Amino acid sequence: MISQQKKKEFYRALLEKNKAYEGMFFVGVKTTGVFCRPTCPARKPKIENCEFFETAQEALLASFRPCKRCKPLSHPNVVSKLVQILVEAVEMNPEKRWKDSDFKKLSVDASTARRQFKKRFGMTFVAYARARRMGLAMKQIREGKAVIEAQLSSGYESGSGFRDAFSRIMGTPPSKSEGHKVLKASWIDTPLGPMLAVADEKALYLLEFVDRRGLEKEIEQLRRKTKLPIIPGKTKPIQQIEAELVEYFSGKLQEFKTPLAPVGSEFQKRVWEELKKIPSGETRSYKEIALAIGKPSAFRAVALANGANQFAIVIPCHRVINSNGELGGYGGGIKRKEWLLNHEKH
Ligand SMILES: [Zn+2]
Repeated sequence: MISQQKKKEFYRALLEKNKAYEGMFFVGVKTTGVFCRPTCPARKPKIENCEFFETAQEALLASFRPCKRCKPLSHPNVVSKLVQILVEAVEMNPEKRWKDSDFKKLSVDASTARRQFKKRFGMTFVAYARARRMGLAMKQIREGKAVIEAQLSSGYESGSGFRDAFSRIMGTPPSKSEGHKVLKASWIDTPLGPMLAVADEKALYLLEFVDRRGLEKEIEQLRRKTKLPIIPGKTKPIQQIEAELVEYFSGKLQEFKTPLAPVGSEFQKRVWEELKKIPSGETRSYKEIALAIGKPSAFRAVALANGANQFAIVIPCHRVINSNGELGGYGGGIKRKEWLLNHEKH
């Protein structure tokens, strides 16, 4: 979502260590895998090795870890001991899922931790830990096939970093790649930010913005219901959706043709079918969808089914708004919903 022009501006600010840009952006350094604040005292990377982010969470999701020198999560400079302890604890064990009992072990009060984190970074500690964990899994997907196939053919020695970070979210891959059915996951860059696509050889199972709220749960559900692990890679439906997204964003595509394999209840599937009928450039209310499927009083259930949609953009849940004309919610963030609706109007 950051323009070329902005990138140049941010890079200049980075070279100048311009304090005015503190909090406006973070920079991920591809060669080292860390992310920094604009004023980091470390030697500055070349522009081609920089990736810019507006929030720390985006940098984490893109699998960067916080720089030890400029401590990007500790801005502005002073940070409570407690927050420091927590950030360090996550870095010691970034795959961990935090429970209240874990806070106790660190002699930290869970609710204080939540509050302080939120105040400092605009996200809760749990959201931070999740972003870091997801970022690690996404790293494998971003880097793609080569790495994974090497690991598959070597049979994943236990204790490998790959197995820990990746398989907690994506499932334990088979020890050899041949003869096992798997789903493949790929990273797709779009003008609205990166998306994750999951598919087998025949159909697409998931398409979501990587920073979507609840993505980790969605992936787990998909794994549980299909009983298939997910490994990085590309299949035909992924290539097709990638090409279609390019056309969609350039305004040339009205209807997606990539085959979909929706995983959900009968009711959910009916709602999703109905969503696909909303023409590009138009919107409907939850109530109207409920009426259309012959369950006029079920608009709450319709709203839930709408939120459970696994195919962002392709099944246009962004075209459903509140009856009073307000935009309503969107798992990918309200800014994106607004952008998509605007884009489709023109
Ligand atoms: Zn730094």
